Amino acid sequence: MDKKQHGTKNGISRREFLKGSAGSLLMFVFFGLLSACQSQNQEQKPIETPENTEMTVMEPSTSSDPVLDDSIDLVSLNSINILVNKKHPLPEDYVPEGMIAPDVLCMKDGILLQKEAAEAIKEMFVAAEEEEIYLAIGSAYRSYAYQKTLYENYVKRDGEEAANRYSAKPGQSEHQTGLAADLAASNGNCYLKDCFKDTEEGKWLKKNAWKFGFILRYPEGKEEVTGYIFEPWHYRYIGQDEAKKVYESGLTLEEYYEILD
Ligand SMILES: [Zn+2]
Repeated sequence: MDKKQHGTKNGISRREFLKGSAGSLLMFVFFGLLSACQSQNQEQKPIETPENTEMTVMEPSTSSDPVLDDSIDLVSLNSINILVNKKHPLPEDYVPEGMIAPDVLCMKDGILLQKEAAEAIKEMFVAAEEEEIYLAIGSAYRSYAYQKTLYENYVKRDGEEAANRYSAKPGQSEHQTGLAADLAASNGNCYLKDCFKDTEEGKWLKKNAWKFGFILRYPEGKEEVTGYIFEPWHYRYIGQDEAKKVYESGLTLEEYYEILD
């Protein structure tokens, strides 16, 4: 089955899609590069669309008491629960072992995830398709060197202070774990934009991703906790059991595990 067909099946017509000022670029990205993930070891090049810089309004937290589980390993490099943020970076030379190309629709070649996360994301995409929600992966594993280039480009473009709100410094990106993915609608609607939250795909993910072990890692109104603006596209795999608990708590990973320093 040709997964490219999905891009024109839902709400937005191709003509409407091309109307925007960035239409030609998006057309190139989404109709030119959509492919099933294939390449296993291809180093990614920093060509992706910069993540948006829209500011979000801070909202009061809707937290409940977390139920802590000492068996969860938040620090080991091989743990699917590893906590990575601005205060808990990864070593420069860390590359997760055994990553594979997820067998789902991708927006570029060379997309890799840890095997467990790749298999879970496939299950999630299949379940979404059963509800006529068609998803794609825009970005997954990023090497330290690749993140360094991305970050430096963002600093050049927006200045360091602004870049730090939406881009991770090298070593501080969850993408280096091979457990995080930037997700998109297969038609590219609102990719890496705040408005992704209002798309059918964004809404489906917010409601259902936890069932497959993924959590929305940078929720709205939690910038002071996570260090990053709301990213409705960024999902992190932590396994089904933990994802269920974190989702039901309404907390961020940092709050749930009470690691705020
Ligand atoms: Zn991301």
